[in-house]
Amino acid sequence: MTPEELRQRLDPIVGREGAPQHAPDPVNEPMIRHWCEAVGDLNPAYLDDDFAAASLHGGRVAPPAMLQAWGMPGLRPRGEIRSGPMGEVLALLDAAGYTSVVATNCRQEYARYLRPGDRLNVTAQVRSVSDEKKTALGVGRFVDQLMIYRDIGGEEVARMEFRILKFRPPARATAEAGTGRPRPRPARSRDNAFFWEGVDERRLLIQRCDGCGRLRHPPGPMCPDCHGFDWEAQEASGRGRVYSFVVAHHPPIPPFDYPNLIALVELEEGTRIVSNLIGVSPDDVAIDMPVEVVFTQVDPDLVLPLFRPIPGR
Ligand SMILES: [Zn+2]
Repeated sequence: MTPEELRQRLDPIVGREGAPQHAPDPVNEPMIRHWCEAVGDLNPAYLDDDFAAASLHGGRVAPPAMLQAWGMPGLRPRGEIRSGPMGEVLALLDAAGYTSVVATNCRQEYARYLRPGDRLNVTAQVRSVSDEKKTALGVGRFVDQLMIYRDIGGEEVARMEFRILKFRPPARATAEAGTGRPRPRPARSRDNAFFWEGVDERRLLIQRCDGCGRLRHPPGPMCPDCHGFDWEAQEASGRGRVYSFVVAHHPPIPPFDYPNLIALVELEEGTRIVSNLIGVSPDDVAIDMPVEVVFTQVDPDLVLPLFRPIPGR
């Protein structure tokens, strides 16, 4: 699609008002309370019946900045998001390669306070779609949307101008996977230096508390049981069992291979360690599978203790 063709298809949509969408819930006190707790706004006009009744509001009101929450369609919307003028514009921009989205600006105007029991509907129109712009995220187009919130009597209670950038994502993650970019370096500190020095010598060292004998990993300065600071390093056999695992598919982060098999291994000495499993496909991993450490040169100056199934077990 050429820029001219895209413009021809966008123009009839711009300025058209979509059908009203009904807010899923009336303005209500539980949602107000959760929102206030989440943002740390403890204004008693929102939360305290007695205070609100004696205030100029004469009863509880909703925080104005909570406006957008009332029109949210939920985590699994029933088709509303991709319908209407905004949905049509987003579909056209997706088809033209602007597949990523970021919200860039939001401006709200309030005509009155909302109160518990108010039932709202929202209409949306796309006000403009810009020509292609170069941004730090990539080339894209700004889409300005106007949403008008009305109560059940048709009175406008608020409006919101919402601007997004639809942009072409740089092909970074996929292009960089497998290009030899090194794995992140472990952060060596005074607490864990012994562990990484052990790995450099192909030894798996585990901290053991001098006070109570408890093993712990990852390394730390204090025993979580007896709060003692004295410890020694004990060399582990390197054998253990898969206590739990996950198979990460997305997002692909270079230079890791995907699917990325990450396991929590319970060492036979009794503490656990997170690492990658190698030499096994995700379909063949099982909880309790016996595994052993294999010190692996993952790049020229990094050795990591990875784990593989014990052959013949
Ligand atoms: Zn201890």
